[in-house]
Order: sequence, then C-alpha cells, then structure tokens
Amino acid sequence: MHQKPDGDAMGSTLGLYHFLIKLGHNCTVISPTNWAAFLNWMPGSDKVLDYESQASKADEKINAADWIFCLDFNILSRTKRMEEKLTAAGADLILIDHHREPQTEVFTYGNSDIEKSSTAEMVYDLIVESGNANLIDAVIGECLYAGVMTDTGSFRFPSTKASVHLMVADLKERGLEHSHVHEELFDNFLENRFRFIGHVLLNRMEVFYEYNTALITIPQGDLVKFNVRTGDTEGLVNYALSIQGIRMAAVIIDRGEERKSSFRSKGSFDVNTFARTYFNGGGHFNAAGGFNKEPLEEVVLKFKAAIKENVAQLSSYQF
Ligand code: 5GP
Ligand code: MN
Repeated sequence: MHQKPDGDAMGSTLGLYHFLIKLGHNCTVISPTNWAAFLNWMPGSDKVLDYESQASKADEKINAADWIFCLDFNILSRTKRMEEKLTAAGADLILIDHHREPQTEVFTYGNSDIEKSSTAEMVYDLIVESGNANLIDAVIGECLYAGVMTDTGSFRFPSTKASVHLMVADLKERGLEHSHVHEELFDNFLENRFRFIGHVLLNRMEVFYEYNTALITIPQGDLVKFNVRTGDTEGLVNYALSIQGIRMAAVIIDRGEERKSSFRSKGSFDVNTFARTYFNGGGHFNAAGGFNKEPLEEVVLKFKAAIKENVAQLSSYQF
C-alpha cells in the first residue's frame, strides 16, 4: 500500500490479505510508513509491518516473496523508502489500482482502472471473478467496506456507480456490520483534533473567490501545539471545498521533512494534472496530492501563482 495509508489503502490490502490467507497462501502486509490510529480497529492491522520501524523484517519477506501485490498506488515513489527494494525485488509485482497514469513498466501484471471507485472495489471484483465469492466473510467485508466508503466520501462522489451499491448489498448479505465501520472511522477521535480543526478553519484558511479556490496552510508549529498525529489532518480539505462557490480546495502542511499538499475539486477542474504540474504529485481527476522540498512560504507562493495561471479553467467551471 502507499505511504501514510488511508482507509482504501489499508482496507483493500487487508481485504486481499484475509482472502489470500483463506486460499492457503502465506502473506505479509507492509506499509511504507505508519498510519492513522483510526485504522487500528481493522482486522489484521496489528500484523501489518511498518517499513519505517521494521525494515529488516519486511526486507526478509520481500526477498522471499513470489508475488508482491501493490495496492492503491501506481508509482513506486509512493512507497517512499521501499522504492529501491521493490525495484530490485525478484518477485512479480502485481498492480491493483485506480489512480491515473500508472508507471506500467515496473509491474509484471496488473489492473489499473480509473473508473473504479476504490481499490477495495477492485479487490472485491478480483475475489468474485476468481469464483471465490463464497469466501467473503464479515472480516473481509469490513475491510473492503472501509475502503470503498472512505474513497467515495461516504458514497457521494460521482465514482459511486451502481456496482458500488450492489457490492455493499452483497457484503451486507455476507455479514458486514456497516455501522460499526462508521463508528470506528468517524466517532473515535481525540478532543485535540477538533480543537485543531477549529483553529485551522478560523486562522489558517484563505478564500480566493475570484479563482473559486480556498487554501488552508498549516505551519509545523500548529502540528506540535495541537499534538497532531498521522491522520488528524485527513478530511480537512473537504471543509474548504464545502464553501459555496468553491470549486478547488487545497491544504498545504509543513511536515518538516517536506511540504505535503492535498487538492480536491468539483466538476471540470483536473487536480491530477495540477498536482503533477506544480507539486510533484498526482492522483485522481478530482482528488490528488503532492509534495515539495521548498519552504512553506515558497510553496504557498507557488500555489498562488498556479491558480493565477489556471484562472480560465477555475472561473469557467462546469459540473
Ligand atoms: P490525499 O490528498 O488524500 O493525500 O490524496 C488524494 C489522492 O491523491 C489519493 O488518491 C492519493 O493516493 C493521491 N496522492 C496523494 N499524494 C500524492 C503524491 O504525492 N503523488 C501521487 N502520485 N499521488 C498522490
Ligand atoms: Mn484509493
């Protein structure tokens, strides 16, 4: 899965993991970095290796592997320090992903489909199309549901095709308790996260109505002051996108080692291209991210120059 895994990266990977175990395979899940505490309820998350703290154990598994499934990312740089290891690995790399512009030459096999709501839906399809739907149980269902639900913004994004609802209906029939997943993901935060969000919305958000754009800029000091942990900033960008008239929203966070950005849009503005052009990133048409090595102030200036360059597309917005 990709670094700082989100609900879909962790959910799709653990869903596949439980399925492969049921088929009698020996498998290990590796995350390039740590992950948000709100994913720790997921069955199997306690067995996931964190490459930042358990590299030698993970390297042993990679050296011994026949197959390495790469889920919810399509360029090896998304695995940070694992990139070199994966490039040199003797095993076949198998891609399962729904992001744009895959680095196809590094994968032996794979499925890359930008029409899919989530990698979790692609794992579900893989299980069903392999003739093993009978192996889907409540545990696999919870993992896959967490992935599809978070990646579709709780079933609101246009990527939520009928196939998504049919899949969820099938998971329900196989024992999924969806309310449990929602509670674990959305009703389990510490107080400080909400104090932090209050501070950020009040003091760190700029709205550029002439560009239909809003920007949240978070200096490193804020992360320290509010004791912000991995995952606490997830979803912040959506507040900015919910403002009337706003078609593109961004969050730029100074994480110390780099400036991490998140971009979201509605309708016809392509943030995948925007992130690739200015922020070394990529992702989906309406949700993308990137990173920069320059200081925060410079990245913010870059952002402001970038929206100026894109003023035509940002102001002639269409659904
Ligand atoms: P987020 O803003 O939630 O970090 O990411 C939004 C989407 O863009 C996700 O699907 C994520 O996988 C992708 N993404 C985020 N950061 C990067 C990046 O630095 N490079 C690429 N290629 N994709 C990214
Ligand atoms: Mn995804």
